[in-house]
Amino acid sequence: MAITRIPSTTHEPLLWEYADSKESTDVVEIDDRYGLYIDGEFRSPRSRSHFTTVNPATEEPLATVAEAGKADVDDAVAAARAAYEDVWGPMSPPERAKYIFRIARMIQERSRELAVLETLDGGKPIKESRDVDLPLVAGHFFYYAGWADKLEYAFPGIRPRPLGVAGQVIPWNFPMLMLAWKVAPALAAGNTVVLKPAETTPLTALAFARLTEEAGLPPGVLNVVTGAGETGSLVVAHDDVDKVAFTGSTAVGKLIQRQLAGTTKKLTLELGGKGAHLIFEDAPLDQAVEGVINGIFFNQGHVCCAGSRLLVEESVHDRFVDKLKRRLSTLRVGDPMDKNTDVGAINSKEQLDRISDLVESGRSEGAEMFQPDCELPQRGFFFRPTLFTGVSQSHRIAQEEIFGPVLSILSFRTPEEAVEKANNTPYGLSAGVWTSKGSRILWMADRLRAGVVWANTFNKFDPASPFGGYKESGFGREGGRHGLLAYMDWSEG
Ligand code: NAD
Ligand code: MG
Repeated sequence: MAITRIPSTTHEPLLWEYADSKESTDVVEIDDRYGLYIDGEFRSPRSRSHFTTVNPATEEPLATVAEAGKADVDDAVAAARAAYEDVWGPMSPPERAKYIFRIARMIQERSRELAVLETLDGGKPIKESRDVDLPLVAGHFFYYAGWADKLEYAFPGIRPRPLGVAGQVIPWNFPMLMLAWKVAPALAAGNTVVLKPAETTPLTALAFARLTEEAGLPPGVLNVVTGAGETGSLVVAHDDVDKVAFTGSTAVGKLIQRQLAGTTKKLTLELGGKGAHLIFEDAPLDQAVEGVINGIFFNQGHVCCAGSRLLVEESVHDRFVDKLKRRLSTLRVGDPMDKNTDVGAINSKEQLDRISDLVESGRSEGAEMFQPDCELPQRGFFFRPTLFTGVSQSHRIAQEEIFGPVLSILSFRTPEEAVEKANNTPYGLSAGVWTSKGSRILWMADRLRAGVVWANTFNKFDPASPFGGYKESGFGREGGRHGLLAYMDWSEG
């Protein structure tokens, strides 16, 4: 009998490489230069000052953007005040709802364009801006549009009144989503807004301003003043701002709290975190690996509620770490505009330096580092997905927020020890628990000092679910009915 030999070449490993799958940028038009959006129109800044926003994946400039100075912020607040007194405040709630619904629908219609713009300006993978950020952005506007004419039912016994002008300062990690978390409830509760986007990611907020103009939102209801920390500080400190909402670093949050002490302004702060992600030995380990990967490498780890401290029960520690290392090696790092990319660009050179410094401290303090052997693009700001084992609680990488794709791994022996270690941080934003015991989930959730506790999942968001921190992670809640309270005067019945 003749034996057919399979040619030896077929025994060589087949390379199943991904083909490039680039999202097109044709859907987006970026102006060379942007003014400030005040009183329903784009204006050159009175400050005459501009800055450049770059694409962090290529380091190429995308546009020149106005930097608002004091006179500009005064104009924006005055426009917001006038719109509040004359139009938006007196408007009937069902009318307001119609505008917010219209904005939500237009976001859906343009979500591809906005997702591409978000990725170009900020560096996050297109599959995340397309599948996570933009659907949630539209979801928040729909959700709060629905409450706009039902506020009396949201809080029975309270006569809902808006506060007036809201000054909102947002960060660069979820530029449009943070805009939605702040603008949608503010408008739904009847307030007008002066928004200050982050200096590295102003473009989607400017595109949103244009979208509201097309939606016919009355001039002055939404104003966008671009600039850096100085501009943010002018918004926050302005005498005619009634409510301040800030998301960003704990250091700036503390500064703002000091700045507002003794004033009657209402304040909510959503600050940093050092989320604990806990794996018990009875957890479905392969699913937990996916949860941990999503918990720390989603959005390059630029996530305030990232699961950046992994606590693994000692009996499964080595096995789990092996699985994690294998999974880490399959992550695709690189061009954020490629639909296959899992980990995109670090948002800025400054953030890349911050991450590199903290990672260096982890090595010099004696933790053991693992990085997959992946190639990084020549240009742009990139960092390899990284994990540290042998981390002790006193290491800086176990204490400080890295805000990058870096996971610190510790172990525990008992549930009590897990709780103690998880809570041993100045922060208190998020935590996650993986176990197949329902009673243990509830026991842990009672004891973890974190605003959100995920069970057998991580980084899941929903417009109906409130989000916010304990301790140095800030105060106040965004999302859900709770998110409306921050924009309402509910001091008397
Ligand atoms: P940041 O706090 O400096 O900036 C956040 C926003 O606040 C930006 O719009 C910025 O222009 C503005 N701002 C800066 N100084 C201000 C001031 N004095 N008054 C008013 N507004 C001001 O954050 P960053 O420097 O871009 O990032 C540093 C760290 O902040 C990160 O490593 C991370 O730990 C943390 N961070 C947290 C979040 C979050 O979602 N909680 C988001 C971004 C950054
Ligand atoms: Mg940019």
